[in-house]
Amino acid sequence: MPTIMTHTIIAGSGGLLFQKKREPVKFWIITVLCSVIADADVVGFRLGIEYNSFWGHRGFFHSLFFALLFAFICALLFFREHVLFSRKWWRYMLFFSILGASHSITDAFTSGGYGIALLSPFDTTRYFFPFTPIEVAPISIRKFLSCQGIRVMASEIICIWLPIFIFGFWPRIAKKARIA
Ligand SMILES: [Zn+2]
Repeated sequence: MPTIMTHTIIAGSGGLLFQKKREPVKFWIITVLCSVIADADVVGFRLGIEYNSFWGHRGFFHSLFFALLFAFICALLFFREHVLFSRKWWRYMLFFSILGASHSITDAFTSGGYGIALLSPFDTTRYFFPFTPIEVAPISIRKFLSCQGIRVMASEIICIWLPIFIFGFWPRIAKKARIA
């Protein structure tokens, strides 16, 4: 997996680009939750669930279906002020789904561990993209605080943080600078 920091950066940046007016705190909490919830499946290691099983790490909870399901539940429970299936409601639903999916998709670009069950529960095959430039983050914190951690952060900054800045924020900053 990319680190929790990178998933949070994706969430925060996505939220900033998404919001038209100031969004409430619950929006930001759900935004971050949607982008990191998949990794809650690491508790499976403690519960004796096999890594490569249906419920294992990077299994069902990393699927696009689960991303959609979780986004639906969040939009349903926490955005009741918008009429169900209205245009505004769909905007939130879609945004949270994309964030959830971003977790699984970025994981599929990592260089280690088992692949991601992107299409679970319909197809439990674990997938990687053919190109995996992101160093996989170690699950143990001790390993993360080593040279391996530095390599992981460097690959995430180059492959994720920089493109987000260049394509997401730089055009806005440049536009504001031109107007000012
Ligand atoms: Zn993950």
